[in-house]
Amino acid sequence: MKQTFLNDAPLIPATTPATWLGVMGGGQLGRMFAHAAQAMGYKVAVLEPAEDCPAAHVAERHILADYDDEIALAEMAALCVAVTTEFENVSHHSLAFLGDRIFIAPKAACVSIAQDRIAEKEFFTQCGVASKVLPAPYRNIASPADIDSVPADLFPGILKTVRLGYDGKGQARVTSVDELRIAYANMSGVQCVLEKMLPLAYEISVLVARGADGRALVYPIAENVHRDGILFTTTVPGPNVGAEAAEIAQNAALAIIDQLGYVGVLCIEFFVLEDGALVVNEMAPRPHNSGHYTIDACITSQFAQQVRAMARLPLGDVRQHSPAIMLNILGDVWFEANSDQPREPAWDQIVALPGAVLHLYGKAEARRARKMGHITFVAPTLAQANVQLTAACAILGIDL
Ligand code: ATP
Ligand code: MG
Repeated sequence: MKQTFLNDAPLIPATTPATWLGVMGGGQLGRMFAHAAQAMGYKVAVLEPAEDCPAAHVAERHILADYDDEIALAEMAALCVAVTTEFENVSHHSLAFLGDRIFIAPKAACVSIAQDRIAEKEFFTQCGVASKVLPAPYRNIASPADIDSVPADLFPGILKTVRLGYDGKGQARVTSVDELRIAYANMSGVQCVLEKMLPLAYEISVLVARGADGRALVYPIAENVHRDGILFTTTVPGPNVGAEAAEIAQNAALAIIDQLGYVGVLCIEFFVLEDGALVVNEMAPRPHNSGHYTIDACITSQFAQQVRAMARLPLGDVRQHSPAIMLNILGDVWFEANSDQPREPAWDQIVALPGAVLHLYGKAEARRARKMGHITFVAPTLAQANVQLTAACAILGIDL
């Protein structure tokens, strides 16, 4: 069986029998997806091997199993009318297994490209004519011998693992062939790419959604600041993003999502270089941390959009009604500064800030560098949102 659902009827929520949507993965993205699906009248099943996880706390059904457990996947397919994924490292096999049985968005082939930096870069290069944006110069490093033929102009560079990298993990910055040899040896023999280090002016992400009818919509361009490899803040509209960069990014995102034949929410990260040129970095085949602001600042959140796309309903309005800044809350704020002494952050003071919307993911244990929640600061102007961000950081002991 192949996916031939594109002309099928929309999966309108019903209570008898209940209409179920499924999500692979039980993290915070699955939790916020469940909230959005339930708000529209669907019931939600989560397939996730961890017992106590953010999405299982809210879903009507938790299928407690590994992502590649075929009995569990068959149960998911029998229960649900459509399935999506919040965890991009679900295997191609599992998604194809589901895709043979029910509608899945995005489809397995799209997720596979995003799971593999080389496939992703090759895809971006191949659609460069349509998107008018290319990835950073790079070289595949699959063995120590590949290092001998690395062109000198790729230094300084960043060595990245081809698979399973996130939040800056699986990366090493290198300035010479010798450093590259050492860094590659430390990657335990996994396949890598060496990317040229580019002079970044700022980083943006473009959230784009495509419905089953092929219609695509782009959210406002978001500007991201990372700290220690982890997203720190997202500001929308991006304060540095000029009209020209916004147009290039928007058109590139539309070209990329069309060429993929993608259904669902896709987040594409771009670098804007000091000379104003855009470079496409990577894509996440799902709602993304940099799109969390849409819950509080847009007509249709990225999660509600994912629900619509997978249910083959028309996409929702992506209009942003207020400027917004999103601050990630890491486990660090549960500890006194420079000590292991635990503390409870003063959430009462945070929620007292005008326009501050607190989201906590219900994780049982706060660990440093672990994403525990986020705060969206919504205000009539970005300057006002910034005032509240500054106040919140002072309350939480976060250096700005
Ligand atoms: P995440 O999943 O959190 O987005 P990741 O671990 O998949 O991150 P990248 O997004 O590729 O990795 O890189 C992390 C950060 O490193 C980027 O946001 C950027 O700040 C910096 N970086 C990555 N590649 C380059 C490059 N070629 N030139 C300059 N800086 C880079
Ligand atoms: Mg990234």
